[in-house]
Amino acid sequence: MVSPSRNTSTPNTSIIELESPVLSLPGIGEKRAAQLAALDIRTVQDLLLHLPREYRDRSRIQTIAEAEPGALMTIEAEIVRARSVRMRGGKTTALLEVKDATGTIKVNLFGRGFLVNSALKRGTRCLFTGKVGEYKGLTLQNPEYEPVTEEEGVRNLHTGRIVPLYALTEGVSQRLLRRWMDAALQLAASRLPETLPPALVTRHGLPAAAEAIYEVHFPSDMESAEASRRRFVYEELLAMQLAILQRRQLMVDSVRGIRHQTDGPLLAQFRESLPFPLTPGQQQAVNDILRDMAAPRPMFRLLQGDVGCGKTLVALHAVIAALDSGSQTAFMAPTEILAEQHYATLRGLLEPLGIRATLLTGATPASSRVRQDIACGNIPVVVGTHALFQKETRFARLGLVIIDEQHRFGVRQRDELSRKGEFPDVLHTTATPIPRTLAITLYGGMDISVIPDLPPGRLPVKTSYVPENKKEELYQYLRDQATRGYQSYIVCPLVEESEYFAGLTPLIDHFIALSEGSLAGLRCTLLHGRLDAREKEEIMTRFKARQIDVLFSTTVIEVGVDSPTATTMVIEDAGRFGLTQLHQLRGRVGRGSVQSYCFLLGVPSTPEGKQRIELLRTCANGFEIAEADLELRGPGEYCGVRQAGLPDFRAADLLRDTRLLDLARRDAAELLESDPALAQPEHAALSRAVQDLEGMFV
Ligand code: ADP
Ligand code: MG
Repeated sequence: MVSPSRNTSTPNTSIIELESPVLSLPGIGEKRAAQLAALDIRTVQDLLLHLPREYRDRSRIQTIAEAEPGALMTIEAEIVRARSVRMRGGKTTALLEVKDATGTIKVNLFGRGFLVNSALKRGTRCLFTGKVGEYKGLTLQNPEYEPVTEEEGVRNLHTGRIVPLYALTEGVSQRLLRRWMDAALQLAASRLPETLPPALVTRHGLPAAAEAIYEVHFPSDMESAEASRRRFVYEELLAMQLAILQRRQLMVDSVRGIRHQTDGPLLAQFRESLPFPLTPGQQQAVNDILRDMAAPRPMFRLLQGDVGCGKTLVALHAVIAALDSGSQTAFMAPTEILAEQHYATLRGLLEPLGIRATLLTGATPASSRVRQDIACGNIPVVVGTHALFQKETRFARLGLVIIDEQHRFGVRQRDELSRKGEFPDVLHTTATPIPRTLAITLYGGMDISVIPDLPPGRLPVKTSYVPENKKEELYQYLRDQATRGYQSYIVCPLVEESEYFAGLTPLIDHFIALSEGSLAGLRCTLLHGRLDAREKEEIMTRFKARQIDVLFSTTVIEVGVDSPTATTMVIEDAGRFGLTQLHQLRGRVGRGSVQSYCFLLGVPSTPEGKQRIELLRTCANGFEIAEADLELRGPGEYCGVRQAGLPDFRAADLLRDTRLLDLARRDAAELLESDPALAQPEHAALSRAVQDLEGMFV
């Protein structure tokens, strides 16, 4: 195996630092630099930390005699004939004949005709990796190629070794990236700092940064590639966990929380009045929350549970404990329609106790009057959108903030809260079923309560698969539902959010075809992400008001919008969605007392496709589904989480690297225990890396 060499054949006089722009690397000009910026690669260090997505083992060199049609192979051979032919469209193809000790084979390289007088000229020895095809004899079609040279210090990058494959961007090929990476490695990698404290490097047996960076890009074997990758992942996760924990510590230390009364008369009365017992999960969550609220430090907790598990009721315990203590509560929802819905629920529950609640959104008329009432403390419970946290809104005594479904409610916004008085207790709620390790990351330094159970006696949504030949029956069923006053959703996948029209076409075509065909006469409407927030809300409001029979939508239909008469969910092309997403879409129905149905179309007939549907059919628990989704689809496909907005990592894949995340979490806590400010000299580099992550919080 060719060992990495650290000197370059073309001596470069200028010194290249890790912080230098990629522009300073040979072969990268303004245009290339701009292309790399699309991958968030700006400096040489950024480039070095753009780790391979995967590898191809092209290290085993075979002989031409071994070539068989259809096989993928790597050969080392000499070019004995080389000519260029012009193709339709103006491009040229290099037609080569190459030979080794065992025979000859043809090689076609599309678009590379211009190389037959240079890199691919007669007499050149090359490595080729490609698939063997048959076209007037055996031919390697468009293989990866790389001239073999005897030159000192030059190693092969594209074949004849284990080869890295990177995430690419428009205009940048694997070959280019490999070449630039090689240059960066040779010119700057030895300066890559070791941020991991020696104690941790030893404890986990990790390779040193400056060595691992070579091995991760151009590994000598797969074990070494994986060990090196893990090293960078661990390093990244450790810094992130330190940032999160430090940040949290800082907040806890620097703010004064409120010691709420959690055994007051209103709460007792409220508990008495509940018509049903809490589920064990609810009870546990209520205990967690009340314990936090009674403590002098601010609560900072996430309440996680499937749609319908009764989170609102749990949150209400907190609201009432706040009331008992004379605190005001701000309840924030992501959209106006959800705010209105929460408001209706809360008002229904609070009014019997003689408690006033009000709604404050951008759309609230006479909002300055309302704001005055809030400012002098006349209104104890305010439900709303972001408008709640605008400067004009002042609370007399804000003690509790409940934030529903806002995954990345920033620390800055959180800090705003403290300026509205003593630091309030904060409770986040979410129905997004995220495995625990991921939640740790998404929700930073929060404590987490999970409600794993649903109240008894629910009618679970019945899920089934509809084959192509039963589609018309399904549409007839939707018509029947409509005449009985029930609504349906039809969800189509969006290929790619960024494809302006291309992605929407299937939905629009489908809408036109059905609303003028099988569903003609029904009130059909389109909802998609390109509508502005107001238009979307208007449509959802009309849907809730039963003015729409069938809503055609992308996945934008709001999490949490309750429409008790929406009974049918149809998911087209269901094979395109992750299990978690299917489960969440299904959660849009079954919110009332009638039996609801979820119909899946276009499920692939593969065993995996069937397995997924079977799981959905038999399992109603979002967390179980989320875990299974992880296992079945693997990392990178886990839509629910992607949507929830995980921070971007350079090295880590949180789905694959959950064990490393746990490890990093533990090590981070331990480190801070002994050195809370990371002030010891052996933590200096780490401390700088952590500071660089501060941007993550805004
Ligand atoms: P979530 O907010 O988690 O989606 P909700 O709080 O909206 O769930 O609860 C859904 C429904 O279940 C509400 O009608 C609520 O009154 C009811 N509910 C909540 N907890 C219980 C319980 N322990 N037993 C029976 N019904 C419950
Ligand atoms: Mg709810």
